Amino acid sequence: MSKLPNVTTSIFTVMSKMAAEYNAINLSQGFPNFPVDEKLTNIVKKIATENIHQYLPMTGYPPLLDKIAALTQKSYGRKITTETEILVTAGATQGIFTAIQAMVNSNDEVIILDPSYDCYVAPVLLCNATPIRVPLNDDYTINWKSVESACSNKTKMIIVNNPHNPTGSTLHQDDFNSLVKIMDALPDMILLSDEVYEYITFEQNHLSANSQHTLVNRAIVVSSFGKSLHITGWKIGYLIAPEHLMIEIKKVHQYLVFSVNSICQVAISHYLDVVSVENIRESYQQKRDLFRSLLQSSRFELLPCQGTYFQVASYAKISDQSDVEFCKQLVIKHGVAAIPISSFYENGKDLKLVRFCFAKDDETLIAAAEKLCQV
Ligand code: PMP
Ligand code: GLN
Repeated sequence: MSKLPNVTTSIFTVMSKMAAEYNAINLSQGFPNFPVDEKLTNIVKKIATENIHQYLPMTGYPPLLDKIAALTQKSYGRKITTETEILVTAGATQGIFTAIQAMVNSNDEVIILDPSYDCYVAPVLLCNATPIRVPLNDDYTINWKSVESACSNKTKMIIVNNPHNPTGSTLHQDDFNSLVKIMDALPDMILLSDEVYEYITFEQNHLSANSQHTLVNRAIVVSSFGKSLHITGWKIGYLIAPEHLMIEIKKVHQYLVFSVNSICQVAISHYLDVVSVENIRESYQQKRDLFRSLLQSSRFELLPCQGTYFQVASYAKISDQSDVEFCKQLVIKHGVAAIPISSFYENGKDLKLVRFCFAKDDETLIAAAEKLCQV
């Protein structure tokens, strides 16, 4: 019998495959199409000849751990203990899976907001625990009253994604205040804060769980160098958590992967000496603004985008097809691939919305927008 009977092939795989089949511009799966910084590829070439091809320590390459600690202090003012509070993972996905396996027991409940990115529910189900989906407000802010009503002494974890994939909404201090109030009443509950788009926020600085003194002792924060350094295929991320949680997380990590790709960790460690990850915000803001301005003359209506490299758009004025069907036709007839937003909802709620990834070179964004203006 299947352990995950309702899981099918991810929409990101489906749409990227379809984009390739029809030779469409792929704005579906989220990944940059512009070349990686030459400084990084030169580092890879140089270090590939060095003796770095064997297992690294289980928690990560020590100089990289130091750099993550320095980055966390610089970005969020949080001082962490390198040896005990950081774990390098094979992408955020493995970090999230590992944290959930380590923390959640059978019959526990885990609050997952709706809509949400797709990698939270399956690990919860594999723990024999129950995901409790809590709808976001219509403007994609978190409805803390609903969260509070959904919580009980069975609630082990809440998973929050800030900035939010797919809607681009972000959390503010009031959100954290509400969360702390709820968690104060439930001493066993912990926060899993997926912040992979932490350096892609617009018009405001990212508010990380790392900056919330009253939360950090009960929070696991997830980051991804895939997003922050434009290298999604490298699959390197990291977790930050207090030692008492990290001890448990490491027990799972050592049997899931033991340690993570050595060349990539060493390369990133050197690269962090010569780049500032904080600077990626500006170029993504330009891309967002370019894409939004190009779509002004289309029939799509654009939702706000405060962070991430995704733009959500309504096609309600264009078609009354389901969003899945609309996305298929968009590839086949118009040569652009997007993601139907229903795939982020527990019950496939269809709001006539699609998600476009704007982590693309300007040429691609201009070509895609030209096609989208014909729809
Ligand atoms: N969380 C969110 C919200 C994401 O969008 C992604 C996307 N890729 C991940 C986690 C996984 O990141 P990684 O590729 O580092 O595993
Ligand atoms: N996070 C990426 C997105 O939202 C997809 C990554 C994947 O394909 N698993 O598009």
